[in-house]
Amino acid sequence: MPELPEVETTRRGIEPALVGHTITGWNLRQPRLRWPVVLPHALRGQRVRGVLRRAKYLVIETANGSVIVHLGMSGSLRLTHKSTEAGPHDHVDLEIDGDRVLRLTDPRRFGSIHFHEGDWRQHWLIKDLGIEPLDNEFDGDFLHRAARKRRVAIKLMLMDARIVVGVGNIYANESLFRAGIRPRLAASRISRDRYALLAQSVREVLALAIRHGGTTLRDFVDESGRRGYFSQSLNVYGREDLPCYQCGTVLKGLRIGQRATVYCPNCQR
Ligand SMILES: [Zn+2]
Repeated sequence: MPELPEVETTRRGIEPALVGHTITGWNLRQPRLRWPVVLPHALRGQRVRGVLRRAKYLVIETANGSVIVHLGMSGSLRLTHKSTEAGPHDHVDLEIDGDRVLRLTDPRRFGSIHFHEGDWRQHWLIKDLGIEPLDNEFDGDFLHRAARKRRVAIKLMLMDARIVVGVGNIYANESLFRAGIRPRLAASRISRDRYALLAQSVREVLALAIRHGGTTLRDFVDESGRRGYFSQSLNVYGREDLPCYQCGTVLKGLRIGQRATVYCPNCQR
């Protein structure tokens, strides 16, 4: 599943090719994605002002409104020439001047495309989202405040998009390892100092993943067609029953909220 780093990598890849260019039209080969895709005439001829990201949404902003794209479980975007033959899962082309298209490929069709007139931050999918983990407000104090009275496992809190967005399962596992915190520990029992370390760990893990173009996932290919190779840097995720790189102790696996969780019983307390 494309996670925040993959979406940010995609954003950085398509931004220079779109900003300042004009949306000349679109081709909806399959408008039935997670929600039906409807694009208004007002979008035609609009110049792209910016390509932004909020959580795992990509926002293509114009003066008349914005196109909000989510890659769902298996979606990817690539820039190609209009004449490039479309495959069976190439559902939507957003046509750009110069006979180029931004092509959405999505085998499982859990992705979505919405148009929003006015401020996209007020769109119903976006307005109630938690803060961005790479923003300055995301720090130990923020997490410590959010954890007050929460008896839920810290890993679940970290993955709660109403609190902080974009910390998917892989990144939650890796951040907790880096911070030396057990995934099942009750959020309310963690000190402010440990939260400061955790916030820093989340930012470092995400920044590293973005630098590497995301994690290797079967369906994810970045805008240039390369696969991400962040998976080579994973310390715990997918390494249940293998020795910890840091201390040699056998890593333990368990499920928290149905999600695969791996930790080192020695390094994480
Ligand atoms: Zn260890």
